[in-house]
Amino acid sequence: MPSSKNGNPISRGGKGEGRKRMGHDKPATHRGGCPCCSPYVWDAYRPRDPGLSRRGFFGVGAAFTAAALSALTGKSEAGAAGAAGLATALAFTAPAIALGETRRSRADAAPGVTVYRGGTIRTMNDATPLAEAIAVRGGRIIAAGTEVDVAARAGRETRIVDLRGRTMMPGFVDCHGHISMTALLMGFQNLAPEPAGPIRCIADIQSELVKYREKTGGGRGGWLLGASYDDSLLAEKRAITRTDLDEVSTTQPILVYHASLHVAVVNSYALSLLGITANTPDPRGGVIRRWPGTNEPNGILEEGALSLAMPRLPQASREELLDLLDMVQDRYAAWGITTAQDGATRGPDYELLSLAAERDRLRLDVIAYPFFTHIEDLARSEVEMKRDYNGFKIGGIKLMLDGSPQAKTAWLTKPYEVVPTGFDTDYRGYPIVDDATAAKMVDDAYARGWQVYAHCNGDAAADQFIAAIEKATVKHGLADRRPTVIHAQTLREDQLDLMQRLGVMPSYFVTHTFYWGDWHRDSVLGVERASRISPVRSTIDRGMRFTLHNDSPVVPSDCRMLLWSAVNRRTRRNEVLGEEQRIGALDALRGITLDAAYQHFEDDIKGSIETGKLADLVITEEDPGVMAPDDLKNLTITETIKRGETIYRA
Ligand SMILES: [Zn+2]
Ligand SMILES: [Zn+2]
Repeated sequence: MPSSKNGNPISRGGKGEGRKRMGHDKPATHRGGCPCCSPYVWDAYRPRDPGLSRRGFFGVGAAFTAAALSALTGKSEAGAAGAAGLATALAFTAPAIALGETRRSRADAAPGVTVYRGGTIRTMNDATPLAEAIAVRGGRIIAAGTEVDVAARAGRETRIVDLRGRTMMPGFVDCHGHISMTALLMGFQNLAPEPAGPIRCIADIQSELVKYREKTGGGRGGWLLGASYDDSLLAEKRAITRTDLDEVSTTQPILVYHASLHVAVVNSYALSLLGITANTPDPRGGVIRRWPGTNEPNGILEEGALSLAMPRLPQASREELLDLLDMVQDRYAAWGITTAQDGATRGPDYELLSLAAERDRLRLDVIAYPFFTHIEDLARSEVEMKRDYNGFKIGGIKLMLDGSPQAKTAWLTKPYEVVPTGFDTDYRGYPIVDDATAAKMVDDAYARGWQVYAHCNGDAAADQFIAAIEKATVKHGLADRRPTVIHAQTLREDQLDLMQRLGVMPSYFVTHTFYWGDWHRDSVLGVERASRISPVRSTIDRGMRFTLHNDSPVVPSDCRMLLWSAVNRRTRRNEVLGEEQRIGALDALRGITLDAAYQHFEDDIKGSIETGKLADLVITEEDPGVMAPDDLKNLTITETIKRGETIYRA
């Protein structure tokens, strides 16, 4: 077995795999992740095909799912293997819609008319981009246009809302994120670096954990839990260890998750509680980090070693999870979001969201894309695709074809700028499945009439997806299917041409230009390729539709950051990354309104302010169409309206 005791990069690929993975003592190699590429979503996924096997993924995936699943089922003994079995046994059943009045039936029945006037109403409807007034009744827009026209439609018993110079837009649509996973992580203290969280240095992490203890009345089940720390962005520029956490407590267990979710750190008390000692061997697919020159654990648990801790963490009850989901919805609403996505739904996520629908606790609409590990569950489920179950809907399926550029696991056609230590100089990342498997999954989806999303960060992964689409299109014929490349970080011009011909949409994780932009330029892709990550301008110039996303919980689902990044493309160091790919604010706005609704097959009811569409609206203090580009991230959201009801007010 390769040694990890000195903290050097180690090899722990599967037997015969011969692949070296990255070490975490160089935190820059592990900045951030993606719930659709992070290990913990790899539940229930047995490596039937050797091409699918990534041994390091399974330990953590199963462990995290075990925790999530037992939280939902109340089965605390759910170990990794048990969780895997249970998850595959979950069929998706249609939510039982609550009897009596639901939020939307109340909205639909509401008799009164509300007229909004006196501000800038940006409709996102190209025919009439600006309206003087709109009228809303029963959760829908019944008129939009001039004051005279709207007044004529509104009748006399009307409530008039004066916008007082503010701007009204269609509600924002989160077109790729993971709302259920975001809810789960809301149960942890946010230890993300600024601006996604409050952290600048290790002392900040310590004080946040103290705050967590206070606000939870002693911790969750006695544990202090944190998530999303990023040692590469700490002032100290070093990995945190149990010593740092011992300064917070030596009598209470502490666990904090790295932003990548590949790593966690525990304090000495937690180590003893978990029975992890100098004599504990590294578990399969994982590493217990040790102090240099000794066998003594330093508190850092990597990959499969997380399975030693996860099943022992305190469980959240269904009620607690529903409360966490409420909190996430409140936060999304404060960012102007009226439709959220669950972009890699697994069994436990499905249970939570359908329960929330049954209990009438979805204030936002949620569209789920079950993870491809659940294709069979979905095929035999009683859920009707694209049907609204009291705010919850299944949109299609989600494939995952590579990793992430920031972790240097994205599958590229050309080598990384700086290959990770221990890798060959032509290292280009790697696929998750082979071409035949990708083609079969797309073919299956086409045969069943399911919409298909695919996580592709590297251009080689996009090549694989586009080839699969082309094959399936030849076989099944051209039709309006709106397949979507999720993240689409390194799309080339020739790929955009092909995508346009085949009707494939890109959904860009455009805030990469800020969060990892410097890292992409200096180490991941080099100047040339990094300058065209999220090639939004190239997409617009072709007249193609595109969308913009934040991939919550990877980074917060703040839509203002999407507008700001697409328009400015500034990195953390405040340098412009790819000036030629910048776009205008109103074009960016399409990517979180009309085109985002289109991506969900909901442009008939959402995404613009037009008669007959849902009254999903956001009101802002400033007008993003005319405000200074650098101020877009400070756009003040004053009110968010879902189906005619105010769900957020500043
Ligand atoms: Zn992803
Ligand atoms: Zn994702």
